[in-house]
Amino acid sequence: MFQHDTIQVFLYALITAIATGFGAIPFAFIKKITPKVMGISNAIAAGLMVGATFMLIMEGANENFLKTIVGMAIGLVFILGIEVLLDKFEHKHDDSPSFLVNKHGFFKNFKKAIIIIIVMTAHSAAEGIGLGTSFGGNLKFGLMMTIAIAIHNIPEGLAISASLVAKGVSWWKAALWSIFTSLPQPIFAVPAYLFISYFKQYLPVGLGFAAGAMLWVVFSDIVPESQENLDEKKSATIISLAIIVMLLFQYLLD
Ligand SMILES: [Zn+2]
Repeated sequence: MFQHDTIQVFLYALITAIATGFGAIPFAFIKKITPKVMGISNAIAAGLMVGATFMLIMEGANENFLKTIVGMAIGLVFILGIEVLLDKFEHKHDDSPSFLVNKHGFFKNFKKAIIIIIVMTAHSAAEGIGLGTSFGGNLKFGLMMTIAIAIHNIPEGLAISASLVAKGVSWWKAALWSIFTSLPQPIFAVPAYLFISYFKQYLPVGLGFAAGAMLWVVFSDIVPESQENLDEKKSATIISLAIIVMLLFQYLLD
């Protein structure tokens, strides 16, 4: 039974990773998207991610609000720690795989590749921990988070694929790269799930942890990326609307 559950969590988290690849599908039909569309898709990804963190916080607060807040603080320290470590290796990094992939879709700079993979992993791992922890709480909430993260991953995959396709990478290789960036989701969901299954009392801490780390990623990576290509007011409006849509979605499913 127990193993069966674990495999199920892995598969659900794998589905969210595969959803990232859906973002590449438009490029089977079109050559490129405008910077504006890129800004919009990043804004949607940011808003949906904030919405998902609200869901995590609400779920955690149902159990224990203070433990959730403590978890958020730990999540923030965790992600900051990774950033500080990375800055020691390289001051300026970009989290798009387009900087490390040549037009054939292969690595061109190994050291840089490792750094970018760690940055992407930190982002995706936070979501994976959120998924695994949610399943550790209850199946229904886990499924809700699966859908939430999967939907968030599609515009994220679109933005990743846009930068790859612009370099001449084919759409299906861009799809595989997009899925690759989200593979930490199933990889981190399983230990998070197992941990919470053993130590139920840490459920709100785990939910808060994922929320804290995810919020930081939104504001450090996704929002600035959106506002690089899109007017700040428009970007903020789309982000806010996406948050509302995500919460409405939770209300309707609940
Ligand atoms: Zn994400």
